[in-house]
Amino acid sequence: MIPAAFEYKRASSAQEAIALITQYGDEAKFLAGGHSLIPLMKLRLAQPTMLIDIGRIKDLSYIKDEGNHISIGALTRHMDIENSALLKQHVPLLAHAAAQVGDAQVRHRGTIGGSLAHADPASDLPATTLALGATYIAVGPKGEREIAARDFYKGFLESALNPDEILTEIQVPKITGAGWGFQKFNRRAQDWAIVGAAAWRSKEGSGVALVNMGSTPILATSVSAALAKGASVADAADLAAAEASPQDDLNATSDYRVHLAKVLVRRALEDASK
Ligand SMILES: Cc1cc2nc3c(=O)[nH]c(=O)nc-3n(C[C@H](O)[C@H](O)[C@H](O)COP(=O)(O)OP(=O)(O)OC[C@H]3O[C@@H](n4cnc5c(N)ncnc54)[C@H](O)[C@@H]3O)c2cc1C
Repeated sequence: MIPAAFEYKRASSAQEAIALITQYGDEAKFLAGGHSLIPLMKLRLAQPTMLIDIGRIKDLSYIKDEGNHISIGALTRHMDIENSALLKQHVPLLAHAAAQVGDAQVRHRGTIGGSLAHADPASDLPATTLALGATYIAVGPKGEREIAARDFYKGFLESALNPDEILTEIQVPKITGAGWGFQKFNRRAQDWAIVGAAAWRSKEGSGVALVNMGSTPILATSVSAALAKGASVADAADLAAAEASPQDDLNATSDYRVHLAKVLVRRALEDASK
């Protein structure tokens, strides 16, 4: 459980972080809260020779009202999202989902940017921001680009980010006044979801996404399409796994995951319809 040897540099701005990652290349990795990367390094599933610590870039930690959306700096900790009055008012689904991540220690260290960049389908915030139709902002040597959440997740722990790009901001559309629900099925309170569901619903539409139902977080587009055509919550939820391809593992068979997805999406939509 001891990582391989590595060097360490601390960046004080996004530009400095990009310059360092450009200098050290493929062998370097950004370190934010370290709560996904360090466990992987201890298991030697990741062996970066250079860690570029971005965790203290203060100007990438913020939650701002930008009119029709809320902008969240990539270095914002889960507990700041959980406790944000702005998010509780305009995107309560995200504040609630952040409160379900791990335990208090994890939420005080882990960052939203680290969670999204890590692209773990079992994590809560990738699926939640996907359901919300978020846009992620990445900056690299060639400048800044926007990546829609629905285009970001490419495979297991694999995202659309280039190795020399840093995620700087997450823009989440406001769903002020919309109904929402978040369901997480796990054995112990601090565990990752065996399956999870994030959903919101308003007169304008809906968004539903699944945690741990495949190699990426899954946008359950069939559920939203059925709701838009007037289907009942129960009938729409029955389509929960239409876009998913879950795996068997020690916690659940794929059939059980499909069953869970239908039940959890129904419960999340029932909460969203109250
Ligand atoms: C005991 C435990 C329980 C947990 N339980 C849950 C849970 O229930 N639900 C859940 O969702 N998560 C859970 N987590 C994961 C937690 O949310 C992590 O904090 C999060 O996934 C990663 O964020 P981080 O800031 O720690 O990233 P790091 O570990 O520092 O980085 C993760 C990866 O993202 C890259 N990276 C980080 N920031 C950026 C950036 N701004 N731009 C580009 N690349 C970047 C790093 O290079 C690395 O590859 C748990 C973690 C632990 C240790």
